[in-house]
Amino acid sequence: MADCLFCRIVNKEVNSRIVLENDDLVAFHDLNPQAPVHILIVPTKHIRGLSECANEDIQLLGKIQLAAKELALKFQLAKGFRFVVNNGRDAGQAVDHLHYHLLGGRRMNWPPG
Ligand code: AMP
Ligand code: ZN
Repeated sequence: MADCLFCRIVNKEVNSRIVLENDDLVAFHDLNPQAPVHILIVPTKHIRGLSECANEDIQLLGKIQLAAKELALKFQLAKGFRFVVNNGRDAGQAVDHLHYHLLGGRRMNWPPG
């Protein structure tokens, strides 16, 4: 989608610090990190959010989870990490292209605010 920020990052029309990419997904450092490691994982396909996912996306969602595990290893998050999707306005979703936050490198609280 032309006016979607994360589509533009996927298409390299907007710069980002990419850490992993393949046909299915792109992972890059969050511009405004909330932890020492804060990486966003987005599908290359434009999906508005988790609520818009369907059965045809099952493989893609699995690949995103496994990418998170690989990145946690790569960024030495053996002590723990959080993998978050904000879905909808009340949850704080600001960009309407499905994305997962991989956060780690510090102690985190539960429940989140
Ligand atoms: P959310 O609030 O779940 O929609 O998360 C959107 C995230 O995108 C926020 O953590 C922002 O800091 C991040 N973000 C916004 N613009 C960019 C950008 N150009 N490059 C990397 N991350 C960004
Ligand atoms: Zn998009």
